Amino acid sequence: MTVSFNVSTYWTSGVTLLRGFSLEAELVNLSPLRIGSGREPPLGSIVDLAVIRIRREGRLEAYIPGSSFKGLFRSQCETLVRMKNPRVEPCSGLTKNTCMDIRKTAEGVTLHTAVQTKLRTRNSKEAMELFFHNACLLCKVFGAPSYAGRISFSDAYLLSDAHYGVRTGIAIDRRTGAVFGDSLYQVEYVEPGARFSFSLRFRNLPNYAVGMLARTITILNNGELRVGGFKTRGFGQVKLESLTLRYMDYVGAGKVLDPLEPDTDKPVDLSNIVSQDNGYYTASKEEAWKALKKFEEVWDSVKLS
Ligand SMILES: [Zn+2]
Repeated sequence: MTVSFNVSTYWTSGVTLLRGFSLEAELVNLSPLRIGSGREPPLGSIVDLAVIRIRREGRLEAYIPGSSFKGLFRSQCETLVRMKNPRVEPCSGLTKNTCMDIRKTAEGVTLHTAVQTKLRTRNSKEAMELFFHNACLLCKVFGAPSYAGRISFSDAYLLSDAHYGVRTGIAIDRRTGAVFGDSLYQVEYVEPGARFSFSLRFRNLPNYAVGMLARTITILNNGELRVGGFKTRGFGQVKLESLTLRYMDYVGAGKVLDPLEPDTDKPVDLSNIVSQDNGYYTASKEEAWKALKKFEEVWDSVKLS
């Protein structure tokens, strides 16, 4: 299949599907897991901080919103980008602090304004070019105002029963460090051993960007990256089981994934790892981890400028 635009410049373009990936696993928490529901009440109030729940099949049960994973992955990827090249300054991705908001064009306007102006005059090719050359890798992968990210995380629902526990803490005044009288607060969490569905999808990412995500998944599975709150107390350690990687490739031969960005990206050869199945290329369990490793090698070998 021929693609209708220059692949090398526009993997950020959403117009044509070049490549689509899905990654699925079962996520098991090895230590207490706590995902709160929005803003926590201020310390000093005696409250129960319940875990976030959703109603499924007639009962309320814990879940992990996809947005939690997205935030976790973006912040870990920010660390990876900075480690790779300390001179590269990715944005924080926080509201009003993405590259669209903080980067200025030669005309002295924000990247967002410049892109919007191009889009209003129906110049979407130039708008995409402007974004591609000025936004950081994290904005390109995870999204920014007026630009949908290339990755999406599903909400993680329970595949098993879950048991809930409560831990009592003492409310400390952050300002003075003093204990608030007899102020205790109670924190609810999911006991270790609960099993959740974990699933993410991404499309049109060059191999090195897939490698950055693969490294994040490895770090998550190692327990170095933790999910949810109270991480400093050992909460949020998880492992991934029954990992399956699946993709479709419209650019090249499929088992060998061509670079999607000249100068930076490199090919990945999965010939001995993936099998072809209904038009998809699939790797499961050990093979899926081997495939991720191949992408990680590209991430380790490329230079970011
Ligand atoms: Zn950015």
